[in-house]
Amino acid sequence: MSEHDNIEANKETLGFQTEVKQLLHLMIHSLYSNKEIFLRELISNASDAEDKLRFEALSNDALYENDGDLKIRLGFDAEAKTVTIADNGIGMSRDEVIAHLGTIAKSGTADFMKNLTGDSQKDSHLIGQFGVGFYSAFIVAKKVEVFTRKAGADKSEGVLWSSEGEGEFEIASIERETRGTEIVLHLKDDEAEFADGWRLRSLVKKYSDHIAFPVIMQSEPAPAAEGEEQKEPEDETVNEATALWTLSKSEVKDEDYKAFYKHISHDFQDPMTWSHNRVEGKLDYTSLLYIPAKAPFDLYNREVPRGLKLYVQRVFIMDEAEQFLPLYLRFVKGIVDTRDLSLNVSREILQSDKVVESMKSALTKRILDMLSKMAKNEPENYQKFWDEFGDVMKEGLGEDFSNKEKLAKLLRFASTHGDSTKTVSLEDYVSRMQESQEKIYYISAESHGAGTSSPHMEIFRKKGIEVLVLSDRIDGWMISHLNEFDGKHMQDITKGELDLGDIDAEEEKKQQEEASKTFENLIGQIKELLKDKVEDVRVTNRLTDSPACLVAGAHDMDAQMKKIMEAAGQVVPETKPSFEINPEHPLVKQLNDEQNDERFNDLTYVLFDQAALASGEQLKEPGAFVSRLNKLLLDLSK
Ligand code: ADP
Repeated sequence: MSEHDNIEANKETLGFQTEVKQLLHLMIHSLYSNKEIFLRELISNASDAEDKLRFEALSNDALYENDGDLKIRLGFDAEAKTVTIADNGIGMSRDEVIAHLGTIAKSGTADFMKNLTGDSQKDSHLIGQFGVGFYSAFIVAKKVEVFTRKAGADKSEGVLWSSEGEGEFEIASIERETRGTEIVLHLKDDEAEFADGWRLRSLVKKYSDHIAFPVIMQSEPAPAAEGEEQKEPEDETVNEATALWTLSKSEVKDEDYKAFYKHISHDFQDPMTWSHNRVEGKLDYTSLLYIPAKAPFDLYNREVPRGLKLYVQRVFIMDEAEQFLPLYLRFVKGIVDTRDLSLNVSREILQSDKVVESMKSALTKRILDMLSKMAKNEPENYQKFWDEFGDVMKEGLGEDFSNKEKLAKLLRFASTHGDSTKTVSLEDYVSRMQESQEKIYYISAESHGAGTSSPHMEIFRKKGIEVLVLSDRIDGWMISHLNEFDGKHMQDITKGELDLGDIDAEEEKKQQEEASKTFENLIGQIKELLKDKVEDVRVTNRLTDSPACLVAGAHDMDAQMKKIMEAAGQVVPETKPSFEINPEHPLVKQLNDEQNDERFNDLTYVLFDQAALASGEQLKEPGAFVSRLNKLLLDLSK
């Protein structure tokens, strides 16, 4: 049987997973203006494969197959219009090829695909966040062939994968002498410019200069002058090939940091900022931490593996080492390289290691300091950061007790001082507090509009006291972990009896006491009527325009929290609000004078239901509310 027959015999045609098909289609269109990134992506994969081999070989030297000289080879053929990227890394088995190059294993991929709009401008950003990887080859290639053999496997276990990127790929077994992966791109006719030595060299310099492995190309000697001997092409290393983080900061340009970020993150946008540090002393490690410009599509999926790339003495150990950062900083990308761990460290060991614990708290502090500095020196950039990652930072208040104060300073809120954008820090708030104000006031509502139009806001508006408006889902939970800031109690304005402390003039307090007396009778009647629904009934000075409002008990669960828990199917303890009435309001006065029992009851229920509606609640018997209201309206028009 000839070699050819042999390939034919075990050839299989398989379909891409649906998501791959969609991704390929969209990527080719939306990344067109960024097409040169294919080389960075493929070299990154090659570099990862070398890293993985070196790691596996730590415990099994035979995997080197007598060739420990790890490198990436880049070649081209201008006539055939091909570009070839070859590594002598870990390689892939047949099953791995099918799994890795035929499917996308990331969870949430289907949801991500739904977010794509078909508008290539918008989609290119999304796809950047998703990470394009291997499939970017199809931006420039009409056909891609992958020759690979797993390190340590028999020569006969080579695999050839090939595809034109249109729904199907072919896979065949081949003989392959060398381990590792060789990718041949058959360029589209109008992308032939990439089959060019100068072009490829400059792209390697631009995107892959500081990966840890040499990228080798053949030199292209100029034609010899007459009488001189023609020089033979020879191997040249075209990149620096020193891992970027091992260099000192002064040696590294911003451009290099950015390129390295793209190499490790597969993001194609520049990072927002980074921090590169060498620590010596009790701990000995180097870290390079990046904050991406955009949140990944699956940021809120807490199950997705995330973390830093871990190196021990420059040897790659693992991706997504999540033990070095708290969960709320899961958007940070980067590497940590240490001498304090052994080369055979495992995830299990990392989990309970004291050194790792210390590094985690140092790295956390490093990131929070980087953010604090950004908040102070580049507030506009910080705002962008907050808009992307603010909600996940809030998780930190419940998770990271030791950094609570730092985290609290990093929070940004919408407030009545501004509009619905979240730009107000607690320090800003405190600096604007009125002279006799003792508390930080906030309202937690379903939306910004619901918060600002709440009856509870009236007195604060009247007195010009700033209120923070919290309307993100996580806010109720967050605030339950933040009782105070700068020694000032955080007060929910919808909870407990209103006490504005010294801001309330003595006179106003007296007025309220008098009103309580005047309305004593009325209060008694309302209490009797609503006794199953309310905890208490009282007059209030917190309203200026509304006749009444509902107030939760000082220690009751936040209404937003309650909704979230109920939605999650949890049993929430039943609590009754207090009903507060505005003694200045004509409807309350009318109620006080009402002689007809039926009308008294109707008006009381309507005021109560209105108050519930204004708090963003749903009425238990909306039909009854409507018919009572209509009855009163008819009375009015008589
Ligand atoms: P990512 O690199 O983000 O995981 P890719 O689509 O680029 O996604 O690659 C998918 C997988 O294919 C990789 O995770 C890796 O397991 C495998 N792979 C890609 N290129 C190589 C290579 N040169 N050598 C070995 N495995 C590779």
